[in-house]
Amino acid sequence: MSAKIIAVCNQKGGVGKTTTTVNLGVGLAAAGQRVLLIDADPQGSLSVSLGIGDADAQTDTLASVMVREMNREQYDVRSCIRHHAEGVDYLPANIELASVDVSMINTMSREYILSGVIAQIRDEYDFILIDCMPSLGMLTVNALAAADSILIPVETKFLPIKGLQQLFQTISSVRYRINPNLEIEGVLFTMFNGTNLSEQIAATVTETYGSSIRVFDTRIPTGTKAAEAPASGSSLLHYAPKSKAAAAYTALTNELLAHRNVKKEAAV
Ligand code: ADP
Ligand code: MG
Repeated sequence: MSAKIIAVCNQKGGVGKTTTTVNLGVGLAAAGQRVLLIDADPQGSLSVSLGIGDADAQTDTLASVMVREMNREQYDVRSCIRHHAEGVDYLPANIELASVDVSMINTMSREYILSGVIAQIRDEYDFILIDCMPSLGMLTVNALAAADSILIPVETKFLPIKGLQQLFQTISSVRYRINPNLEIEGVLFTMFNGTNLSEQIAATVTETYGSSIRVFDTRIPTGTKAAEAPASGSSLLHYAPKSKAAAAYTALTNELLAHRNVKKEAAV
């Protein structure tokens, strides 16, 4: 069985993509799944959250394997994969990925570079989560081309309708031209603080899209521990296991796995 690939994507920054990738990934690993996290953001936040230190000083990263894939050189992606003490593997990124984003423009089949990288190791994992950068550029299109589904964190602080429309348009053209099987795993409300505003935003998004797109029942609350965890190099599940946000990420993991099982049974 090859891995289920989920792109964690929203072109807005600061909505909880990296936090969700880390904590859903560690949650899935704790549930016995083999997990690879791919940092597809030149900012390298995922890599830093997992304790890599100075991301820009690293030489074996997603950028190095993507360049080799583009140039059709021999390489082994495993040489760039690190293991984290919390049971997940990860492929780090740094600022070099920004120039890959640009150089892909002139490459043949440029949308499939990341898919080519992932093909080497897809059979070795149950889940591969891709932490996307805050743009809908070529790297993000590569992630959507490689993915089975997209998980969309939505920050319940600002009404995101315009941004979501733009994102859904991108998903629709990716489906039309590149990856007809791309599904929407679900919209995940993050930074949910229980105020009227956050309730209203969640209700509006659910009313607008809920009939056609799955919205996760689990909402991720705002919490100071969630903001502190990345600097510790460990997930929130490890850093503050008793926090509400950690409990929410465990609930999200269970919700996602339960939904997957229902779908599997339906397919039999
Ligand atoms: P993105 O990857 O979409 O840019 P991040 O996951 O990096 O978003 O989150 C943006 C910032 O908000 C980070 O500093 C992160 O630590 C913080 N953060 C994420 N989730 C929460 C939360 N539930 N409560 C409080 N702070 C959070
Ligand atoms: Mg991020």
